[in-house]
Amino acid sequence: MDSKALRKISYGLYIVTSRKGDKINGQTVDVVFQVTSPPSPTIAICINKQNLTHEYISDSGAFGVSILAQDAPLNLIGNFGFKSGRDIDKFGNINYKMGETNVPIILDDTLSYLEAKVIDRLELSTHTLFIGEVVAAEVIKEGEPMTYAYYHQIKGGTSPKTAPTFIKEEKKMESLPKYECTVCGYIYDPEKGDPDGGIAPGTPFEEIPDDWVCPICGVSKDDFERVD
Ligand code: FE
Repeated sequence: MDSKALRKISYGLYIVTSRKGDKINGQTVDVVFQVTSPPSPTIAICINKQNLTHEYISDSGAFGVSILAQDAPLNLIGNFGFKSGRDIDKFGNINYKMGETNVPIILDDTLSYLEAKVIDRLELSTHTLFIGEVVAAEVIKEGEPMTYAYYHQIKGGTSPKTAPTFIKEEKKMESLPKYECTVCGYIYDPEKGDPDGGIAPGTPFEEIPDDWVCPICGVSKDDFERVD
């Protein structure tokens, strides 16, 4: 079996939210898909059983899905993807509202959102597939939705085979080394910099201010290693 074949499947990037009593949480998810059409549209999401959001969805039977814009910053995705609601309040600096099902709805960098009530679930080895009936939905703004591929290849800094301009620029600046975050795997590519974090393209890693943090997981420069 060639496991690389699986990488040809396309995914988006979403923040799935839920609640338990008066506590709220959310996490970044790439597996969200519509499974039936109106008049009773249903969607499915796949959530790791160890995640706090899994516990909250199981408890409340409701979840929200914020469909992220392509230009959503890495720190928003990282805040919900590489941190646990058991350790931090993920909504501390986030613009959100409470939806009809009383789950939080992320408003920043969101194109549209869905709210669903769980009508079925399928237990898989590590994950649960939740099936939800959509009970509320709204478009917030127009734009291109973020895809998993865009997040990794364009925002995350590996070389996209389909983007010749990026390859050309890499050759031009190939003498500048890349650095990898040892916590989350984010690659700092000097060619691209970290515009969301105020680092201009072309900035060598050594010249980044010491108070800069990993745009995805938030650790300091000390946790980066040179990629040779
Ligand atoms: Fe990181």
